[in-house]
Amino acid sequence: MYDILIIGAGPAGSNLARLLASDKTNQYKVGLVEKRRLNQPVDPHRQKACGGLLSPDAQKMLAKLGLNIPSNILEDPQIFKVRTIDFDNNLERYYQRYYYNMDREKFDRYLFSLIPESIDKHLGEVVSSIHVNDDHWEVQLNQGKTVLKAKFLVAADGAGSFVRRRVLGEYVSPEKYISIQKWYPIASTTPYYTGIFDSEITDYYSWTIQKGDHLILGTALPLNGPHAKPAQERLQTFDLLREKTANYLGLSLDTPSKTEGAFIERSTSVRQLRFASRLSLSSGEKLSLALLGEAAGATSPTSAEGFSYALDTSLKLYESLIHGLESAELRYDLSCDSIRRNIFLKNLKSPAMYSKNIRKLVMKSGIGSLKELSFNLETSRNSIN
Ligand SMILES: Cc1cc2nc3c(=O)[nH]c(=O)nc-3n(C[C@H](O)[C@H](O)[C@H](O)COP(=O)(O)OP(=O)(O)OC[C@H]3O[C@@H](n4cnc5c(N)ncnc54)[C@H](O)[C@@H]3O)c2cc1C
Repeated sequence: MYDILIIGAGPAGSNLARLLASDKTNQYKVGLVEKRRLNQPVDPHRQKACGGLLSPDAQKMLAKLGLNIPSNILEDPQIFKVRTIDFDNNLERYYQRYYYNMDREKFDRYLFSLIPESIDKHLGEVVSSIHVNDDHWEVQLNQGKTVLKAKFLVAADGAGSFVRRRVLGEYVSPEKYISIQKWYPIASTTPYYTGIFDSEITDYYSWTIQKGDHLILGTALPLNGPHAKPAQERLQTFDLLREKTANYLGLSLDTPSKTEGAFIERSTSVRQLRFASRLSLSSGEKLSLALLGEAAGATSPTSAEGFSYALDTSLKLYESLIHGLESAELRYDLSCDSIRRNIFLKNLKSPAMYSKNIRKLVMKSGIGSLKELSFNLETSRNSIN
């Protein structure tokens, strides 16, 4: 029986496992389940689609955790500039902002490599079912071929979390988007990150990011609500974005080397966030669940940035767990108030980015920037912390 079982070894799950293993009191038996085989060569079918940009907030989290970024996980070019293109208002602006440009899979593998041997790792295993049994969780892997037992369960399994759906059911969940990213070979250098606003494509945003000799063009398309398009129209919508972006940037984006997809969840209200839950059993026992990173709905609703939240929630849960399993989920839930406030503030500022008339005023005013706006929000978040 595990004291703590973590589902998912993305940045949130790996960081929590590393922190728990480094705890000098060594009080817990910890297991980690991950469907990717992170100890074997990369399986392209199990790679997470991502921009791989480490924002200033995520950089601050790494500094707080005492972690650095090895140079072998960086991708050319490093990015100091954001180019904001507003197709709705036919405007553009450049803003200064510093990101680490990384290979996402290598970043995950780096964080995973820091987890000591003392953590039991179940790699290449998919959680297929979860049950409550007397006073513990029973987690089935690979259709019941393996059953793991645990006192405390941690959902770190990302957007559309299976654990969250299975345990909490369909409570108020974040808005759902599907992201499509295509990688195009390019000969030139685009040393900026492009944020593209175009209501013909999406009510969220689209982006370009260079990775070595490729340019990623990506977008996040809504799956529900008035802007959602039928599945068969999504690739046409992407193609329209490709055509507009290629013409605008003067690049030929013809034959992609790679196409990727992933869900993105956008918490447009703090009611959609869920960090912890406690089940009261008929036996009088209580069973605890904590949710980390994207499984909790914790990503920026304005930029989809999520590494800082994944690292922040894993640190907060660790700090709650070192005081004992009893009520750890309640301490953790309370400590996540700063994240609730941060996401609340971002949603307040969201119209400045996502309402085309307000965005036009902001971009034309020259007194601020969309990215500077979100940068100011990041700053307010750190002062809240
Ligand atoms: C297209 C796109 C671009 C993005 N770009 C950026 C960016 O540039 N910068 C940024 O900060 N954020 C970005 N994000 C957001 C960022 O990827 C997430 O916020 C971050 O990965 C969250 O980390 P996590 O550990 O919570 O979840 P994840 O990284 O999603 O990790 C979840 C892990 O759980 C595993 N898993 C899932 N289900 C199961 C199961 N049933 N059984 C076993 N294992 C399971 C998965 O394999 C995965 O390893 C982007 C997201 C998308 C979709």
